Amino acid sequence: MASRLIGELTARGYRVAAVKRSHHPVALDREGSDTDRFARAGAASVLFCAADGTLERSAPVGLDAALRRYMGEADIAIVEGFKHDTLGAVIRLSGDDARRARLEAMDGTLILETIAGNVAGLASAVETQFMLSAAGDDELRADVRRAARTHGHLCAGVVLGVRMGRLAMSELGIAPPLPPEALQITVEVARCATDAVASVTGCTLGRGNLRVVDYGKVAATFEDLRTGRAIRVLAREDARDPDDRWASPLLTRHHRQAIAYRLMPDAALFTVRDVCVSAGADRPRTRVACDLCGETIRVADGIAGEQALTCRPCATGAAYYRGAQEVRAAVVRSPAARA
Ligand SMILES: [Zn+2]
Ligand SMILES: [Zn+2]
Repeated sequence: MASRLIGELTARGYRVAAVKRSHHPVALDREGSDTDRFARAGAASVLFCAADGTLERSAPVGLDAALRRYMGEADIAIVEGFKHDTLGAVIRLSGDDARRARLEAMDGTLILETIAGNVAGLASAVETQFMLSAAGDDELRADVRRAARTHGHLCAGVVLGVRMGRLAMSELGIAPPLPPEALQITVEVARCATDAVASVTGCTLGRGNLRVVDYGKVAATFEDLRTGRAIRVLAREDARDPDDRWASPLLTRHHRQAIAYRLMPDAALFTVRDVCVSAGADRPRTRVACDLCGETIRVADGIAGEQALTCRPCATGAAYYRGAQEVRAAVVRSPAARA
């Protein structure tokens, strides 16, 4: 299977490296040969350069080290026999010839499960994964990888959020790592891009420098707290259908977006406007108890102590939950009930 896949990808113009691991020792060399004697004499690595190729003999290495050392020339590595190593952009192939083949990225994400004979299908999936991992410059790819880890998967929204955060920071002339008081972000949607904006800027809900005002729009306002300048970055609707310049029309729409969003110029992805942000995004600091339910709420300084104060659900009569009942009683009783 792997060898047919290598053949297919090579035919499509990719340079493919193949790594096979065995848990059994193997006779690397003929005893008493020159190279065998070099190795026994302590050479860290021994190369045998013959007319028809080169063999290297060196100490056993893990997958990461092997790929670092030998991947330089290759676009795609097909890896067999490694179980626990993790690495971003490499393809692991498993399954046996007769039945189903599983194609996983090295982070364990399942890319494709297919009938093992479908070499063309596998090759296309590998090709997509390669394009996904290779598009954009190194720095952008690193940001996208980090954001995808935070978010849980790599999707087009993550790439868009990363681009959005990077554009805003470069427009405002600031660079991470930011002190928490440097930037205040208001994101207008709670979706994949939100996590990416948080990841790339380092602003978070908990630190109070990221908030979500859910307008359902892929937009965010970035306020430079040192200068007071604020810009609102809005994703362009027409960017959702990237043309063939940026990504192959053969890919799914989602994959086209995930690739194109790394390559398209800022102006094709976003509109950017200077805005004024109304005050009041301050973090509430004073703690008071609600007069009706008794639960503690945090309010802005100056509000507390003036008059009767109720929490928002009590005041409006509307909460996102209802039918609250004490849980602890039931939990405490249950072991006794079993006995
Ligand atoms: Zn997502
Ligand atoms: Zn209350």
